[in-house]
Amino acid sequence: MLIRRGLKLYILIFIFTMIIQIPMFKVDAYNIEQKGFNVLVLNSYHQGHNWESSILDGLNTYIKENDKNINLKVEYLDFRNNYNKEYIKSLKLMLEEKYPKGSIDAIYTVNDEAYEILNKEVLNKNSNFYKIPLIFSGVDHKIDGDKYEKEYSAGIYHRDDTLGLLGFISDLTPNVKNINLIIENSKYGDSVQSEIDKILNTYMKDRINVEYIRSNYTQDIYKQLSKIGYKEDTVNIIAGEFQDKSSEIYISPKVLIDKLKKYSTAPIYSTDSTYLNTSILGGHMDIGQNHAKIIGKMISQIKDGVKINNIDNVTEPVAQGYITYKSIYEYKIDPLAIDEDINIMNKPAYCIIAPTWVKILIFIVLFFIFMLIIFLIQTLARNKKLKQKKLEEQEKAIERDRLKSDFIVNLSHELRTPINIILGTSKVLENKARKSEIDGAYLLSKIDNINQNSYRILKISNNVIDITKAEAGMFQLVLENCNIVNIIEDVFESSIDFAKRKNIDMIFDTKQEEIKISVDVFQIQRLILNLLSNAIKFTHENGIIKLIMYKKDNKLIIEVKDNGVGIAQDKISYIFQRFYQVDSLYTRKNEGSGIGLCISKEIAQKHGGTIEVESKIEKGSTFRVTIPINLYENLEDYDPSKTIVTSNIVDLEMSDI
Ligand code: ADP
Repeated sequence: MLIRRGLKLYILIFIFTMIIQIPMFKVDAYNIEQKGFNVLVLNSYHQGHNWESSILDGLNTYIKENDKNINLKVEYLDFRNNYNKEYIKSLKLMLEEKYPKGSIDAIYTVNDEAYEILNKEVLNKNSNFYKIPLIFSGVDHKIDGDKYEKEYSAGIYHRDDTLGLLGFISDLTPNVKNINLIIENSKYGDSVQSEIDKILNTYMKDRINVEYIRSNYTQDIYKQLSKIGYKEDTVNIIAGEFQDKSSEIYISPKVLIDKLKKYSTAPIYSTDSTYLNTSILGGHMDIGQNHAKIIGKMISQIKDGVKINNIDNVTEPVAQGYITYKSIYEYKIDPLAIDEDINIMNKPAYCIIAPTWVKILIFIVLFFIFMLIIFLIQTLARNKKLKQKKLEEQEKAIERDRLKSDFIVNLSHELRTPINIILGTSKVLENKARKSEIDGAYLLSKIDNINQNSYRILKISNNVIDITKAEAGMFQLVLENCNIVNIIEDVFESSIDFAKRKNIDMIFDTKQEEIKISVDVFQIQRLILNLLSNAIKFTHENGIIKLIMYKKDNKLIIEVKDNGVGIAQDKISYIFQRFYQVDSLYTRKNEGSGIGLCISKEIAQKHGGTIEVESKIEKGSTFRVTIPINLYENLEDYDPSKTIVTSNIVDLEMSDI
């Protein structure tokens, strides 16, 4: 018994808690429904139907931006495929079942079929939608509800824009005589057809022949178009959406139009925004997004407590003309016939809308302007270059002038020193001779002094003569065949004595014992002696000078390397210019006239060769002479006995050390 009583108690408690819980669940569910403002949106057609979708997109944007508390409960009624009493009855039942009383705060019927079903329900006491404010769009004036219906509904009436469309067509294709009207089989199709018929009958009776192509299936349309065949002055007008007959799948507007063009070459127009981004010529269309703003506002008003009979009905925004940029040229439309308020679709940013001849003209003008700009830029650049060149030449001339004056000052200085020495020495000798105090050794040392200074004067005058000859193009070589290794070794050895005065180490290195070549021996000796004397002059005491010679690719290469003062990089390019000396007259420590390297370069070039230098300040310099090895059989061999003694040349060239 006790157990039984206990069980009973448990069952009672369980039932009691369940009874308490049920309303709680209900309240919760009810609350979820109640949260926000619930709008039942009824679309007459299938999901993806273009115009309806664009309205829904617009509405969602409106809600996001203005009133996030509005919930849209969207239903697609598919009236195009099912439109009969049975279907409508079951649909109503489904809606009643799905949306219990109180779960919906407002209804929005997107187009007329949906409106016609629901506008009766808002007056039906037994309906879940009784007295629920109803907003509509896409509804004709002619199906206005009665006074009571109006009490609970407000919205946007459809505007008949067919006149606009036909005006648009006759502007762009003025000779039109035939229209193929391709429309879907639905209420929407009916309305498009009746509107077009009305306008044609009123304004263009007997002037235009219309072929009606009505079907929901693409196959039927293509078939009928093929049957009609090509007729001049024809346009196609298309409205609605079309399916594949066997699969019932809706064909994308783009694909449909591209295929349709294979059956009819006539331009295609539309009143239906579905075809906005396809390759039709153009159309006169109202865009769903514009409706959405108005509907959104109406929903917000109702939500804010405004009674629906206080909201005015409006007529939908005026349809606008659209034309695709490509088709202007595809169908040879006169761009001047396109009104300013027509929207041009898919126009590349850089393109302009003008007749082809105007485009060609603009292109030619732009081309000439472009060429002119290029010409001007080139002329300016050329002038700038010329000016720069002139300036550089002027600077060079000034520099040459400066060098010449420097040279004259140098030369006077160079000449004055040895002359003074010679004069001084001869005066001393004269005095000694008068007093008969002269001894042989003393006399010889003084004569040596006089000789060296005379060589200095001779070297300077030789150089001046040669440089003048070279400038006048009269510097000629006297070629002889010789073993150049011996010649260079001789001059090198003779210069060792001069290097010893500064305790400089002299190293001679040759890879070949004999290199036969035709050269002007005297000039080559001068060249090498000039490089050696410079190396001795510009190398510190205890330094090293190396002469390396070798044969490479049938070229004779002689390198004179020192580890002396070196030459600054910005000065290197100048040292082969005549009269150029890195150190100025007043700061320099060595004698020289600044023409040695200029003559050396002249000698190398006269032999078809080059002279280059690599140098680093305080690290030393390398002068590299490269002379092609030519040997002419008919030339005489070099005979040392017939020429000036090498030591004399060395004395001459080394005289300024
Ligand atoms: P110069 O008779 O004055 O030596 P060069 O034409 O032979 O005239 O040389 C021009 C200048 O180049 C020299 O005054 C010197 O400044 C620089 N130069 C030539 N050889 C060397 C070297 N081996 N080391 C450093 N400077 C050099």
